[in-house]
Amino acid sequence: MEEQIEDIFVRVQKEGRTFLMEHESKAALEGLGITTTGSEVARSEQEAVDIFRSLGGPAVLKILSPEVVHKSDLGGVRLNLETEEDVRRAYREMVASFMGSGMAGVSVQKMAQQGIEVIIGVARDPTFGPVLMFGLGGVFVEVLKDVSFRSIPLSEQDALEMIREVRGSKLLEGYRGHSADVPALQRLLLQISQMVEDYPEISEMDVNPVFLYPHGYTVVDARIILGERRQPPEASLKQDLRGLFYPKSVAVIGASGTPGKLGWNVFANLVSHSFPGKLYPINPRAKEIQGLKAYKRIGDVPEKVDVAVVLVSAGMTPEVVQECCNSGVKYIIIESAGFAELGEKGKQIEEQMMSIAERHGARLLGPNCSGIINTHCHMVQSIGIVDALCQGKIGLVSQAGVCAAGMLWGLRRIMDFGIIATIGNKLDINETDMLEAISQDENIEVICMYLESVKAGRRFVDVAKGITRTKPIVILKSGRTEAGKKAVASHTASLAGNDSIFSAVFRQSGIIRARDYQHMFNLARALSKQPLPEGDGVFIITYAGSLGVIAADAITDNGLRLSELGEEDKANLFQLLPEYVGGTNPVDYTFSQNPEAVRRTIEIGVESEDVGSFIVILQAEILGSYAETLGEIDYKGKPIIACVAGKEFAMEDVIKMEKAGIPVLATPEEAADAIAVMYRHGQRVKREA
Ligand code: ADP
Ligand code: MG
Repeated sequence: MEEQIEDIFVRVQKEGRTFLMEHESKAALEGLGITTTGSEVARSEQEAVDIFRSLGGPAVLKILSPEVVHKSDLGGVRLNLETEEDVRRAYREMVASFMGSGMAGVSVQKMAQQGIEVIIGVARDPTFGPVLMFGLGGVFVEVLKDVSFRSIPLSEQDALEMIREVRGSKLLEGYRGHSADVPALQRLLLQISQMVEDYPEISEMDVNPVFLYPHGYTVVDARIILGERRQPPEASLKQDLRGLFYPKSVAVIGASGTPGKLGWNVFANLVSHSFPGKLYPINPRAKEIQGLKAYKRIGDVPEKVDVAVVLVSAGMTPEVVQECCNSGVKYIIIESAGFAELGEKGKQIEEQMMSIAERHGARLLGPNCSGIINTHCHMVQSIGIVDALCQGKIGLVSQAGVCAAGMLWGLRRIMDFGIIATIGNKLDINETDMLEAISQDENIEVICMYLESVKAGRRFVDVAKGITRTKPIVILKSGRTEAGKKAVASHTASLAGNDSIFSAVFRQSGIIRARDYQHMFNLARALSKQPLPEGDGVFIITYAGSLGVIAADAITDNGLRLSELGEEDKANLFQLLPEYVGGTNPVDYTFSQNPEAVRRTIEIGVESEDVGSFIVILQAEILGSYAETLGEIDYKGKPIIACVAGKEFAMEDVIKMEKAGIPVLATPEEAADAIAVMYRHGQRVKREA
């Protein structure tokens, strides 16, 4: 009788092994309905011959030993054995060379007909847990490292996308008479994803190679590596941090009356931004701070405090957290630094704080953070002094506190934030909690994140996936090291660098990955100020031929195309254009470009079915003259991005444009990238709806 997959795993583990030999791995796969070339075990020359006869065709012999992981590297694979004599000779040679290396027998199997070779693998990522890898065999994987990843479990769409994502995927569609059964491959990927879901003891896996045929496939070799049977991650409670975002009263413990101190800054920010709730400065040595009555301890405050911002030195924080809890404070924000980031002692203090908060059901933000800014309730808790802010719909979750406040100095002129939340060391509230909470806020429509690490990867994926259906998320993830890599048995694990997994998981969840700060804020402005394009046709209006050509190239590079006006629209457009203007996309007005001409051209594009979006290339020196006219056009749901070379020297006018709702980017490439990102995001939203 066939051995059940559970029994195989149990037996292997009982024998003290983690590595399943080929015949065991294939039996496990077969048990789930996956087609393989089979693998029968011969323990004598005669057995090998008997199995060969039963196959009725050329055979392959392979060494079976728990000590031999990569069989062919050691000469343990003999292909295309056509006669009994071939089989006998191969068997004898194999026994001779592998005697004494724990040989469990010789695998005898059918010689499969050559197909297109692909590799499927499973690895465990320290952040996201099990991930599936796909790649084309041979040089594609070995040399080009042309592989794609997805976090398990996969959706059907994920499986299809990961096939299409590898550079060599065109080969699967057919070349020189070869082609592959892509739907069968897609099903196989999903089956393996399901297998890892059902058997969490599977830690790594290489299914390498699989031969793909015009109809069907066969698994030629497989190895499975077992680990501990991991508990599925606990489902966290849905995060509702409204009380943190919209408190009615805030106490600042360590508020100071001395300008220049951090405790002065934080309190000054709350006062100067006119926080409408109650403010309580807490300082044992002051009677009054910045015009408000000070209290010695939080316990002395006569009314209920919703949020406490803590700025005392690290060593004093556990005591302060305890006092806050005694006073019934639900949210405690530790802005002080000097904790886990400095080593063991700081870590212990963190643990102390955490256990106190847990006992009282309080939530901690930080430590080592810069609090929350919520323009919708005029609340600024930043460590750095922040100037006046306008209310906006962009949310920003930032691991680093200082950078969030520092960037605001300039950015506030061209983009308006709603909530900015810094998370620091993420002792309690982590990036996923914050992401989930901020996404539920009715004032927030676009979310930006700056991340260095993710704590609970699986939950992060689930939460993000849900959010991106309605609100776009743009993430800048730094720390792109390969540090997660270690010496591992499977090929897959050696290819699974942590950063490529991040990219894959972001794609899978519909998150837009930014390349740098500028890219993140370009996209945030475009997404928050403009609708998503419905079509992939882009209408370019320019004053410089060269910039128009660059833009046309850039939109093609980004997978979009130039829109094609209909005959009537073209005729209307020609009436507008000076004689020397030839093309209808890009439309190049040269230096006669002016707001009125651009407006009328856009209005033709708005009516044209094939136009999905506009890129308008404007002259920096007269940019200011466009803001009002372009701001007033009815675009009927089509997005526009302005591209202005040298915009950094025309900041006053850039601000006018941005305030009129038109994002101004510096280069045609940036403009094309923004439109393309928005278009793809829109397509995904539609598909997932
Ligand atoms: P390794 O442990 O080295 O990965 P494999 O079982 O993958 O050993 O064999 C090495 C190569 O031999 C495969 O990549 C494949 O090209 C070929 N091969 C192995 N088994 C068969 C088979 N049953 N039919 C056809 N080719 C095979
Ligand atoms: Mg192999």
